[in-house]
Amino acid sequence: MRYISTRGGVEPISFSEAVMMGLATDGGLLLPETIPSVDADTLKRWAGLSFQELAVEVMLSYVGDDIDREELTGLIERSYASFAHEEITPLVKVGDMHILELFHGPTAAFKDVALQFLGNLFELLLERNGGRLNILGATSGDTGSAAIYGVRGQKLIDIFILHPHQRVSPIQERQMTTVLDDNVHNIAIKGTFDDGQSIVKQLFNDLEFKDEYSLGAVNSINWARILAQVVYYFYAWGRVTEGNPKRRLTFSVPTGNFGDIFAGYIAKRMGLPVEQLVLATNRNDILSRFVNSGVYEALDVHHTVSPSMDIQISSNFERYLYYLMDEDAAKVRELMEGMARDGRMEVSEEKQQRVRKLFQARAVGETETLEQIRATYRYSKYILDPHTAVGVKAAEGIPGAVCLATAHPAKFGDAVKQAIGVEAEPPPSLQGLMEKETRCALLDADGDVIKNFMQQTLADR
Ligand SMILES: *Cc1c(COP(=O)(O)O)cnc(C)c1O
Repeated sequence: MRYISTRGGVEPISFSEAVMMGLATDGGLLLPETIPSVDADTLKRWAGLSFQELAVEVMLSYVGDDIDREELTGLIERSYASFAHEEITPLVKVGDMHILELFHGPTAAFKDVALQFLGNLFELLLERNGGRLNILGATSGDTGSAAIYGVRGQKLIDIFILHPHQRVSPIQERQMTTVLDDNVHNIAIKGTFDDGQSIVKQLFNDLEFKDEYSLGAVNSINWARILAQVVYYFYAWGRVTEGNPKRRLTFSVPTGNFGDIFAGYIAKRMGLPVEQLVLATNRNDILSRFVNSGVYEALDVHHTVSPSMDIQISSNFERYLYYLMDEDAAKVRELMEGMARDGRMEVSEEKQQRVRKLFQARAVGETETLEQIRATYRYSKYILDPHTAVGVKAAEGIPGAVCLATAHPAKFGDAVKQAIGVEAEPPPSLQGLMEKETRCALLDADGDVIKNFMQQTLADR
């Protein structure tokens, strides 16, 4: 399997090159040259597999010759050993819907499914090809801890994560700073999340520094993250339908960067019987506006009770756009350039109809989100986190829908308490966090200060 860029400016590369490249060098996103397809017999056989066995089958044709079946099996076993549930992503029936719980990983949010895999994959590729990696990222909360847990203790990787001092929730801060492995370096900056992001950008643009220190990123544009997420769509379908290829399912996905729902799109293109994908956003509704109007236009970011979806520009959207434009890279480049120039793009009526055939979209407000947590709790005693509640609300009136649960409700205790008056019981991974020892550097929000700190830290290792 070879990988290409949505903007057509990268010679086809292997899976491991695509993983190490992250963002394509022409500014686009990497995609497999072809999407493998799965027939009805295979689907039926896959429906009986465990999550880990299924992951091997789904991923095997994507990794090509780079990783053989045995290596992939070991990689997947290691990646999901950290999950607290034996099924990894169990399904729970709540009312007339299925909740797909994706939050049993070490940081209690769905990003663990991809980042536990990516961390182990990086380590395997570095061991094989030589070299080290220094991951640098800025976080507003969730991604930082999932990335840290993905690489903690790895010998060939160091990770530096910037968070805005006292501007992440106490739980989120502790999830990062209580990780004491030698290769984990937390930095609280005296500034905002945007300051953190611009420092990261500045250091990645310092090409000499970037090359000398092998800087790498773990943001949601890495193809390996999408690939890991494709697996649970197949898993959920197998558990609900027991492999009956006539049963088509609708999935409802709380969406921010279009990563999780894009994995569902890939599953559908592989042949999974998907009826529709419900694109659920909070007030930050650039994606639901696109589905409903054909116009993609960024507006101001609002802070909501589902903060991990408080996003306006959606980093994975370009991948979908590539398929919507019938794999015409020149057209994608033109649209993305228009977006950079005018802050908006629009697609034709014919394309809009195609979008709405597969996707239906809904933006769910703050009050509706809290009401959904309350309503679900009343009739079933099941506690939704605010992100999952957005997806459940958007799937209203679609009996049998599978709603992706992206975070454990104890992680967003304030919103849950506001909705139902009580908090969810925290999973073991969130217990005792406030009493644990922490390590974190407090630094000025200045690129040169951060660069010096990184150089000093790595010289001492
Ligand atoms: C990141 C995140 C999302 C959004 O996922 P995307 O892949 O960015 O669409 C939803 N819920 C939670 C809890 C998240 O952390």
